[in-house]
Amino acid sequence: KSAIEITGLSKTYRGGPRAPEKAALKGIDLDIPAGSVFGLLGPNGAGKSTLINILAGLVVKTAGKVTIWGFDQDVNPRQSRAAIGVMPQELNLDPFFTPRAALEVQAGLYGVKKAERRSDEILRLVGLEDKAEAYARTLSGGMRRRLLLAKALVHHPHVLVLDEPTAGVDIELRQMLWENVRRLNAEGMTIILTTHYLEEAEEMCDEIAIINQGDLVARDSTANLLSRM
Ligand code: ADP
Ligand code: ADP
Repeated sequence: KSAIEITGLSKTYRGGPRAPEKAALKGIDLDIPAGSVFGLLGPNGAGKSTLINILAGLVVKTAGKVTIWGFDQDVNPRQSRAAIGVMPQELNLDPFFTPRAALEVQAGLYGVKKAERRSDEILRLVGLEDKAEAYARTLSGGMRRRLLLAKALVHHPHVLVLDEPTAGVDIELRQMLWENVRRLNAEGMTIILTTHYLEEAEEMCDEIAIINQGDLVARDSTANLLSRM
């Protein structure tokens, strides 16, 4: 079974006064198996964030088809969005929300019933239990990342996407992230992460796709891919 099926996916950003038109994805086909930890690798500007933002429903594709957990994005936008949770790269959070309030709002947005909300459990998982009532504007960068991961988990998604989760984070936070990735994957969640650290992909991922300048240039099991390098 596939968690994500992508066919002929293209994205061209329209040009503007300060930037020319840019083909960020040029017809990508990619199948991500359910239950895997899947790594998207590529240099800066390769198109990784564009791909993730399309999966998250934050960027509108130019052409192609995206199916998430069996739901075509164009046909079943609500179901396909509910199947995926995304931890973004940017640390944007409402400064006057506490972690607990942010999780409640997120749960509301996704229609998670009160009885099925597990804010305390999720805050504990990401190590934010002591900061549950602190305003987001007082949280450090590391604490914000923890909250962004927590928000991605409130609706129990089948697929969790982490965009450069370890860029510039300390060892403690990196360990927390990897422990959570391993545990959630062991519980059946499909994990997709982007990184430009090959060692990280090697350690964490079952399969890897390499993107360069909007093209998919390789895709294989981590072991096969590394044996060819
Ligand atoms: P608009 O959507 O009205 O063009 P934006 O503020 O989103 O306004 O973008 C302004 C210009 O900068 C646009 O031409 C856009 O293509 C370009 N741009 C925005 N983000 C990026 C980026 N990450 N890399 C390159 N160009 C960008
Ligand atoms: P990566 O995540 O692999 O670094 P991105 O998906 O952010 O790559 O960017 C792919 C290409 O698209 C880059 O050349 C980037 O400058 C361009 N780009 C990204 N966002 C925009 C935008 N909003 N407008 C115009 N160009 C963009």
